[in-house]
Amino acid sequence: MKQSITLVVPCYNEEEVLPLFYKEYCSVAERLPDYIVEVLFVDDGSKDRTIEIVKKLAEKDKRVKYLSFSRNFGKEAAIYAGLQNADGDYTAIMDADLQDPPALLQEMLDAIVKEGYDSAATRRVTRKGEPPVRSFFARCFYRLMNKISTTEVMDGARDYRLMTRQFRDAILQMGEYNRFSKGIFGWVGFKTKWIEFENVERQAGETKWSFWKLLVYSIEGILGFSTVPLALVSVLGLLVCFAAFVFLAVILVKTLCFGDPVAGWPSTVCIILLLGGIQLFCMGILGMYLSKAYLETKKRPIYICGETNLSGKDEGYLPELQHTKMKKTIHACAESGEENETERD
Ligand code: UDP
Ligand code: MG
Repeated sequence: MKQSITLVVPCYNEEEVLPLFYKEYCSVAERLPDYIVEVLFVDDGSKDRTIEIVKKLAEKDKRVKYLSFSRNFGKEAAIYAGLQNADGDYTAIMDADLQDPPALLQEMLDAIVKEGYDSAATRRVTRKGEPPVRSFFARCFYRLMNKISTTEVMDGARDYRLMTRQFRDAILQMGEYNRFSKGIFGWVGFKTKWIEFENVERQAGETKWSFWKLLVYSIEGILGFSTVPLALVSVLGLLVCFAAFVFLAVILVKTLCFGDPVAGWPSTVCIILLLGGIQLFCMGILGMYLSKAYLETKKRPIYICGETNLSGKDEGYLPELQHTKMKKTIHACAESGEENETERD
């Protein structure tokens, strides 16, 4: 029997590029005659005609599956949902904008099937076509991340990768709410082959990642995979204490040797402002970790599914098995005819 590959494609407002993607998908599937190549579009709450286009494709092509979120939950949630619902022997994550060359699939497949790797990942060796400021900060981020985290995050790594079931299941075991896939892929381990390619520009539509969004995403990565900032805060506290003692000694000696000249208030104000600033900065770092921990303890679902053509997923708005308790309660309510009695946690 033929083995199957599921391509997980997160889509957010991709109406312009989807027809191009589908064409490319068909030609790739043709070039892999020994496999059944399915595509699972995860519509991340698009506001344009993305879901309509996907549904039309699904009507004429049985290999096209889709899952649509109730709102925009972000690419990380879309990847998680896709992996959770992909049932191919191999699963690939691929952007809809054709920046992840589908032609690399053959090489990725060979790495897993012939060379025995558990996953084949891709990284861009150039950032041609990207704004230089974005490239600069991206490089700084990867350098910093690899210094302060024990999890390796490859510079230029894309989310585009092919993986075995075992690798996919390992990722799904990491059910955290604050997700940073590039770190998660590294954290789970296994043998990964890196395939390099030259940057390809988006074929149509616009990037969904503003500079601000990328900055937030990179902070997410640091908070999720390193506790070094917390240690740095303690070191900073010690350094400030040390400086205070040195300052105290200087004042003492000065007073004993030269009497007690009136110290200027500007220096006092500067010290208060400096210490106040350092304290607020440190509290900010603590607060960021705390807020992440707070969100994790709430155990909110990572995504809510609005509609899908996946068989056996007709619960509609309930994400797969994330809240077994909640699911049971709703089903129980439905059976007993009660309404709006959803148990909240
Ligand atoms: N995407 C998504 N949800 C979002 C933002 C993006 O599913 O909130 C998808 C998007 O449709 C695309 C992929 O993630 O398939 C990569 O996004 P984009 O091309 O905008 O990012 P870039 O390549 O510029 O980093
Ligand atoms: Mg892109």
